[in-house]
Amino acid sequence: MSTIDFEKILEYVAGFKRPLVKGSLLAKSKTHFFGYGRLPDKPGNANDSITTHFITSCLSHKLKDKPLTVEVLKTVRNDDVEIKGLCTCKANINRCKHIVGFMLKLER
Ligand SMILES: [Zn+2]
Repeated sequence: MSTIDFEKILEYVAGFKRPLVKGSLLAKSKTHFFGYGRLPDKPGNANDSITTHFITSCLSHKLKDKPLTVEVLKTVRNDDVEIKGLCTCKANINRCKHIVGFMLKLER
């Protein structure tokens, strides 16, 4: 079962190769992500949509730093799927390698 379609990840990175390349390295690693969880589905903002919330921890490249919290939200409304990412890393961008790496993990 694939929870996130690869096409959606490509759409998400919107032509930025770097998070995709770096993220796929993270996704291949057996140790970087730990403590995967899926929160109960809940209705999204639009009343006929459903949002699924995935959450994980990710080791920072500086091991002495606190692990990062990475979240992916998938909202489905009819045939429309929207994905969003959140990460606590310093990059503070919504297309960082941690988010994309986690999406790739969910894609497998
Ligand atoms: Zn990040």
